[in-house]
Amino acid sequence: MSNEHLETKFIHASRSVDIEQKTGAVNVPIYLSSTFHQESFDHFSPFDYSRSGNPTRQALEETIAGLEGGTRGFAFASGMAAISSAFMLLSAGDHVLVSRDVYGGTYRFVTEVLTKFKIDHTFVNMSELNEVASAIKPNTKIIYMETPSNPCLNITDIKAVVRIAKTNNCLTYLDNTFMSPLYQNPLDLGVDIVLHSATKFLSGHSDIIAGLAVTKDEELGEKLALMQNSFGAILGAQDSYLLIQGIKTLGTRLKQSTEAAHKIAAFLNDHSLIKKVYYPGLPSHTGHGIHVGQTTGAGAVLSFELNDDLVAKTFVEYVRLSVFAVSLGAVETILSYPATMSHAAMPREEREKRGISDGLFRLSIGLEHADDLITDLDQALQKAVRQK
Ligand SMILES: *Cc1c(COP(=O)(O)O)cnc(C)c1O
Repeated sequence: MSNEHLETKFIHASRSVDIEQKTGAVNVPIYLSSTFHQESFDHFSPFDYSRSGNPTRQALEETIAGLEGGTRGFAFASGMAAISSAFMLLSAGDHVLVSRDVYGGTYRFVTEVLTKFKIDHTFVNMSELNEVASAIKPNTKIIYMETPSNPCLNITDIKAVVRIAKTNNCLTYLDNTFMSPLYQNPLDLGVDIVLHSATKFLSGHSDIIAGLAVTKDEELGEKLALMQNSFGAILGAQDSYLLIQGIKTLGTRLKQSTEAAHKIAAFLNDHSLIKKVYYPGLPSHTGHGIHVGQTTGAGAVLSFELNDDLVAKTFVEYVRLSVFAVSLGAVETILSYPATMSHAAMPREEREKRGISDGLFRLSIGLEHADDLITDLDQALQKAVRQK
């Protein structure tokens, strides 16, 4: 199977479980079983208890491991469960470097939970390699990246950060949620653990909360397996099934959404009522060259800033087609307002330093027709012009 394209693998990678059973079912069965009968007194079956392993979950875990080019995959109850379980490989006294514009939940875990276990952190601008290198301390064990980041789509040079990490005996983790394995394969670039909020593009239908982790190194995989079983934040069999189904259409969905995102980014970029557009697919985007060199696509998430004479509230009131909500990576286009959603807890000055002004919106493009989305955004922008 290894020579086939990712699009082919998306469909067939999960079939192994049932093929072994020889029923021919094209879908992986949902094994709703917490425990498993053991063949004999002294010979145990491959599964014993579903926290440690479940056949449906295993099909998903093998699927994501194959798609990311790893050896072990792990399915968790949420993206945060995957991320926090991976951080639990640290010990008291360790230190981590984390992208300054990391996902809000990761920020909360690092600042409010890891600190309780005497695990220290430094937030750095991962786009500035000198800043990364000089923030490393003797006890730094992990460099944690997110690229493109949220919501301004900042780009990290993955290979360069991996190089810095290896010289300093650090592991590298990368949150690959925005790109998915379709566009970015961090393990191939030397990253040690790839993490996903599978709630987003991988499942794709705004239905489940799920997380995935993938490792290539066998020993590291064993350590994460122990953590998954000890922490116990596993994904259930039914959600594992739904996620397998979502992954089958990932290639088609994300490619169509990305094509529309390019169109919409270009439209907004030329619009007189828009101050700035953030999209890795625009040649003017900071880090565009690096992004192109380490991925095969720009993805379906973009952000834009309204001109000062527009009223953000009015704009939202007139947008008809997009769902106004948190989250991303779904079949429906989702419009988010970082200032009061993902970054509500951050003081205005801190937000604005990161480019998150009161005029900034994030748009995750779904599967609607791009022209309909453009028409809708345009009419809402016109209506939002402040009355003089
Ligand atoms: C949503 C998200 C997470 C957290 O995932 P959950 O499934 O909500 O726990 C982590 N990282 C990124 C980039 C996300 O968008």
